[in-house]
Amino acid sequence: MTSKHYSTDVVIVGAGPAGLFAVFECGMLKMKCHVIDSLAQVGGQLTALYPEKPIYDIPGFPMILAGDLVTHLEDQAKPFDPVYHLNQSVSDLKPLGDSRFEVTTSGGAVVNCAAVLIAAGAGAFGPNRPPLEGLDAYEEKSVFYMVRRRADFADKTVMIAGGGDSAVDWAISLSDVAKKIYFVHRRDRFRAAPESVNKLHEIARGGKVEMVIPYQLHALHGENGVLSAVELADLDGNKKTLEVDALLPMFGIAPQLGALSDWAITIEQHHIPVDPATQQTNVAGIFAIGDVATYPNKLKLILTGFSEGAMAAHAIRPRVFPGEELHFVYSTTQGIP
Ligand SMILES: Cc1cc2nc3c(=O)[nH]c(=O)nc-3n(C[C@H](O)[C@H](O)[C@H](O)COP(=O)(O)OP(=O)(O)OC[C@H]3O[C@@H](n4cnc5c(N)ncnc54)[C@H](O)[C@@H]3O)c2cc1C
Repeated sequence: MTSKHYSTDVVIVGAGPAGLFAVFECGMLKMKCHVIDSLAQVGGQLTALYPEKPIYDIPGFPMILAGDLVTHLEDQAKPFDPVYHLNQSVSDLKPLGDSRFEVTTSGGAVVNCAAVLIAAGAGAFGPNRPPLEGLDAYEEKSVFYMVRRRADFADKTVMIAGGGDSAVDWAISLSDVAKKIYFVHRRDRFRAAPESVNKLHEIARGGKVEMVIPYQLHALHGENGVLSAVELADLDGNKKTLEVDALLPMFGIAPQLGALSDWAITIEQHHIPVDPATQQTNVAGIFAIGDVATYPNKLKLILTGFSEGAMAAHAIRPRVFPGEELHFVYSTTQGIP
């Protein structure tokens, strides 16, 4: 793989709400950012786990859908021209003397920066993949772990497998556009919000969704990554094969701190201890915010991550502009570039 080299002020690891808002806060202090995320889209947990759920505790928004909050955060960061490296995780971090770092991504980007801001949430998300033979040939062609655009499933026969909120919510949402949905679950109990499960059963009574319970995925049939049918098996080994155009296995997303655990940063029980006055980790120049950062009485909320982004940006600024005094101004005075 050929490497592409960049230089910037701050590398932000994680494009969840904390990372996205930190781009804005750094931008207001005239610092440029590159943002790395292992997911193909920005938004962290909000995009990956609950894009269509309402959030009620974002200041100024009595209610906002998680997906809409992500769109607003992206728009708020846009004037500062962040460079996103999506679909790639951080594979290496090297200090270059006392004042700079070099961050390498799995996609071959090598970014030289003055500070690293870790906003990695619970870690790099990857889907829990079902153990099916030949699965990788179908992935991103007819097997998908997340829905990017509902329109991709218009008039298709879609199989959704799982029993949690994502499986149930996407079955409800796609029932508007898909030709038919098979909902496969290994037992009659769900780990999803009861009102969503009731809604799914109601749609199933109308015939648009067919509940296939208790069954598990057993084998995929198709050619060149194009799925034609999925074979299912129940716990007694009885099998049935259903013709489908797409399969969405929704068995949750497993977070991994991955390469972050190999760096010199202290990690305690999957969290990074920081000084809450600056958000700095035990390594000078490496900061952490959002769900991944911990200190006494930490509240793991989106709004906490926003505040921590502002604290970190102010603590990082002297590394980028050494010796330059900050004349603090409100956004109402300064405006946006
Ligand atoms: C169902 C549900 C409902 C919730 N409701 C609320 C609510 O109502 N109010 C509220 O305040 N909070 C709520 N939360 C919690 C909220 O979502 C989290 O507090 C918030 O997402 C944390 O933001 P973050 O930016 O720190 O991390 P995340 O959103 O977890 O984003 C971290 C990002 O970092 C990326 N990443 C991690 N490691 C790497 C790596 N090595 N390389 C590249 N990328 C990496 C991940 O892929 C991810 O995209 C809810 C959570 C869930 C699951």
